[in-house]
Amino acid sequence: MGKLLIKDVVILPMDGVEREQPWFTGDIVVEGNIIKEVGEDLRYKYKGYEIIEGKGLLAMPGMLNCHTHAAMTLLRSYADDLPLQEWLEEKIWPREAHLQSDDIYWGTMLSILEMIKSGTTAFADMYFFMERGAQAVTESGIRASLCKGMIGLGKAKGEQDLAVAEELVKEWNGKADGRITCLLGPHAPYTCPPDYLREVIKLSDKLGVGLHIHLAETLKEVSDIEEQYGMRPLELMESIGLFENRHVIAAHCVHLSDKEVDILVKNKVGVAHNPQSNMKLASGIAPIPKLLQAGAIVGLGTDGAASNNNLDLLEEVRYCALLHKVSAQDPTVTPAYQVLDMATRMGAQVMGLDKVGSLKPGYKADIVLLDLQKPHLTPLHDVAANVVYSAQSSDVKTVIIDGKVVMKNKQMLTMDEERVMYEAQRCADDLLKRE
Ligand SMILES: [Zn+2]
Repeated sequence: MGKLLIKDVVILPMDGVEREQPWFTGDIVVEGNIIKEVGEDLRYKYKGYEIIEGKGLLAMPGMLNCHTHAAMTLLRSYADDLPLQEWLEEKIWPREAHLQSDDIYWGTMLSILEMIKSGTTAFADMYFFMERGAQAVTESGIRASLCKGMIGLGKAKGEQDLAVAEELVKEWNGKADGRITCLLGPHAPYTCPPDYLREVIKLSDKLGVGLHIHLAETLKEVSDIEEQYGMRPLELMESIGLFENRHVIAAHCVHLSDKEVDILVKNKVGVAHNPQSNMKLASGIAPIPKLLQAGAIVGLGTDGAASNNNLDLLEEVRYCALLHKVSAQDPTVTPAYQVLDMATRMGAQVMGLDKVGSLKPGYKADIVLLDLQKPHLTPLHDVAANVVYSAQSSDVKTVIIDGKVVMKNKQMLTMDEERVMYEAQRCADDLLKRE
């Protein structure tokens, strides 16, 4: 069992405890994959531990990317600045039809490399050939919640997707020392009609796993669903029992009525907010301050790298804070500490992960060490504000996931960085040639 002691480090525990100042200097003790103790002068109490010198560093919980399509890194900068439907129908979907299992492995490895290097220690992924995504998660040491994206248009395709999704759950749920959890991933109300969603719900009950779905992303989706079913997307989902007694990650939730806000809160649905993707695809502005005020569980996601175009959650927290301030024309909304809470503690709730997202005894040891000895992080009046408004992903120095050091002093220990970039470029080149 690994025994680590991070010594003399500035600690931002993000543990939901109200303090006058939410950070302090101290030590963190890790035993196995669990945080044993957080406090002052622990180095005198715990002897014989591997020491990580924390002076000049900040320890914060690893961030959680609550919604992405990891292997879409291969389509980064392939098609930009287009309207959503044209982007999907003419560019992305035709290329995705040519993706092969090896592409998913290397595309996911690339995404994980990028995420770990920018301080993300867990992600919720929806894509296909997910057994190869699971392989990448296992080898890299990251934590992930995986689902196969399911499309219910057409009986044969729908049934095939149910079978593949079931297989993924049976094969991979709880694997990689418990770092992998599996969900079912019905893509969206406009690709999964109610009868199909009822089948998905039945399967989720049978397997005892939750769901990950895109909801209320665009105005077009809302008006199409309303026209077809006489209800808005979240009302439709509630009417077919999608939220009943199961964990659901709802990505986007951009266009919501007050009634739909209540539906999300009442059913404790985890909302994955993707500010940069919503801005880039001009989908709209999700009512995040209103959701938080109402008591909704909200985390942050990047969405796929084709609509972002990176997987850097430090950027996402900053965009989140700024977008809602300018939208409300009120600088007091989405303050720094609150958006960082969305990226950590609340993000773990959105992903349905127990004892993850805070630096707290008994919690999983998912810890990011950020280098504070930087001009843009000096002085240190408010640590949370420095992280949200000033920090860069290049400040991330060391990353610990599930008690294992996966990056030390910027050196990846679980992945061959050059090889991953080489293979990803090769897969991306091949993908564009396939007809
Ligand atoms: Zn998405």
